[in-house]
Amino acid sequence: MSTPRQAALRAVATAQHRLNHIDFKNGRLKDMFAENVFSEAVQRERLPKPVFKALQKTIRQGAPLDPAIADAVATAMKDWAIEKGATHFTHLFYPMTGLTAEKHDSFLQPTDGGGAILEFSGKELVRGEPDASSFPSGGIRATFEARGYTAWDPTSPAFIMQGPNGATLVIPTAFLSWTGEALDKKTPLLRSMEALSKQALRILRLFGNHEAKKVFTTVGPEQEYFLIDKNFYYARPDLIATGRTLFGAPPPKGQEMEDQYFGSIPERVLAYMADVESQLFQLGVPVKTRHNEVAPSQYEIAPMFEDSNLGTDHQMLTMEILKRTAPKYGLICLLHEKPFAGINGSGKHNNWSMSTDTGENLLEPGDTPHDNAQFLVFCVAVIRAVCKYSRLLRVAVASAANDHRLGANEAPPAIISVFLGDQLEDVINQLAEQGSAKSSKQGGFMEIGVNVLPKLPKHAGDRNRTSPFAFTGNKFEFRAVGSSFSIAGANTVLNTIVAESLDYIATQLEKAKAAGKDLNSAIQELLPGIIRESRKILFLGDNYSAEWHAEAERRGLPNLRTTADALPVILEPESIELFTRYKVYSERELQSRFTILCEGYIKTLSIEGRCASMLARTMILPAALRYQGQVAQSIHALQSAGAKVPASQLELLNKLTATIEAFQTANDKLDAALNYHVEGDPVSHMKHARDHVLAAMNELRKHGDALELLVADDLWPLPTYREMLFIK
Ligand code: ADP
Ligand code: MG
Repeated sequence: MSTPRQAALRAVATAQHRLNHIDFKNGRLKDMFAENVFSEAVQRERLPKPVFKALQKTIRQGAPLDPAIADAVATAMKDWAIEKGATHFTHLFYPMTGLTAEKHDSFLQPTDGGGAILEFSGKELVRGEPDASSFPSGGIRATFEARGYTAWDPTSPAFIMQGPNGATLVIPTAFLSWTGEALDKKTPLLRSMEALSKQALRILRLFGNHEAKKVFTTVGPEQEYFLIDKNFYYARPDLIATGRTLFGAPPPKGQEMEDQYFGSIPERVLAYMADVESQLFQLGVPVKTRHNEVAPSQYEIAPMFEDSNLGTDHQMLTMEILKRTAPKYGLICLLHEKPFAGINGSGKHNNWSMSTDTGENLLEPGDTPHDNAQFLVFCVAVIRAVCKYSRLLRVAVASAANDHRLGANEAPPAIISVFLGDQLEDVINQLAEQGSAKSSKQGGFMEIGVNVLPKLPKHAGDRNRTSPFAFTGNKFEFRAVGSSFSIAGANTVLNTIVAESLDYIATQLEKAKAAGKDLNSAIQELLPGIIRESRKILFLGDNYSAEWHAEAERRGLPNLRTTADALPVILEPESIELFTRYKVYSERELQSRFTILCEGYIKTLSIEGRCASMLARTMILPAALRYQGQVAQSIHALQSAGAKVPASQLELLNKLTATIEAFQTANDKLDAALNYHVEGDPVSHMKHARDHVLAAMNELRKHGDALELLVADDLWPLPTYREMLFIK
């Protein structure tokens, strides 16, 4: 008889993998890029000129789409897709589950004569009607009005997803209810980009920029993930059901040798990465960087930055393809924020900036005093936004899984602060001192419109890796986003809060201008006050340290440790006022998100709790009892033989028996917490899940992991950390 673990180990040891699936020879890489995208080049080639022009105007300037052109676009898309082997089309959308949803329809239409034609109309391109009653709506839709519809988003190009048997034409869409409420993550993101664009343009106009027609935010998300052998995965019911290990003693060697980060990439993993990249290239996703991460068996993939809408769609595709490709190499890709306790979890650094349609990065410090003044205005707007609405940023990254990173002893903490780097923080401080008695240590004030900024460092060596929100040369990096998250939510919040700051600043500057003040002195008067108000959010030190936690508390910075603490912020009057003012979320849409997020948290903890209890009773306890029996038997054998039983053996038996007892008690307590019926609102449910279910799981795990270190290795049923993380 062998345990699932032994079977997995045997399978891992004897598996043969075919690694050479992709041929990159002879310039294929260049041809490969975007070859499956209905890109601008393809559109130009295949669409009648007026149709092409009208479509481009919509894509570039957000002009409303002329319905008359939809048929022409649909026909061109269909012909192109069929040449690429497509048999079906789908409207891809991003429901509030945080995942991607698709429903495929065939191009094939039977005809009267018994034949068939291939059809795809403008109507089918522009609107889809999935039976969407099973997606969470958080109360927006009652089941009797269950239908929502998907609406084509022409700003994110259609593409072909190749499958082993035929391909599918994929059309990115927004998902809305018939009453026009957003049921997805794309719609609020687009609205927030619109809001930011409007306010940023007001500032640019003040600076005399009349060319820019649109400002859009840019995003470059760095995705962390784990890869483990699929045989281990299938022997771990907890990984299958919850994405994380609910038991597992620390391995003798963890990440303390610091020999993983940027280490050489194992051959099988490298083959996998190249496969993932080639698929992403074909879909036009500009992936750029790959490397080993800090934890054993942890890796990262990062793209070149793009427009936030496209970048968010591409990020969803990246996660999808990372997961889908792994089994081909005998691997499983874990996107969970904390698959393994005691070693680093995974996040998604959300690099963010603002850019004009003429290609100017608004967070790029310039060389002239004029450019610097503009840079400082945008930079201070971001600082003010993060300070004023830091709790909303915390909400945007809240989930049961991400709680194991934020608020635990890991990067980054749940306390949101901003890192600017020494030089920029000094400049900002100098500005803040204007009008106050103190003089600057660096000799003289920062004079807007006269002074140039010191050269700000852009290389990684000067960066603070512990900060949740860091300025990195010409962009901000929001590091608290979880590895499994859609980045839509975080960017929606970020765009909206910065829009509010830009609105505030533009209003003040416009007033000053109307009163006849010149721009530089108006800025010089306005920024110091804003900085003084927002300064408490700035922090240059180590964000993991206990001193910072104390210091942050002294400064009055919020520390929302868990999801249950964070989510209620969504429904505070100030939040509702903000999101409705900029038309990003209606009050009902916020209510629905709150409901869905609370339910998600409660369901996650219930699933984990049930899974832990099941594993405990059906896998760990039987192994422990067997071993207890063996030890008892050998003691009994000694006694029967008339030999003296050493105290150490009795101690072993007693320790085992006591641990098993504690384990069973914790198991009963977990079951009781799971079966307890909570009265009251979603917040009380969340708190029960956190304080009773999760707490009982942690207690159970403690004894379970102690048993792993006691029980005979040949009886232990679950693949261990030392195996899953180190056998590659
Ligand atoms: P790291 O943070 O690991 O040192 P890099 O500085 O190379 O990495 O950049 C990380 C990410 O930042 C990349 O995905 C890159 O595309 C993105 N990025 C660079 N400039 C911008 C920008 N203006 N807006 C948004 N993202 C950006
Ligand atoms: Mg980074």
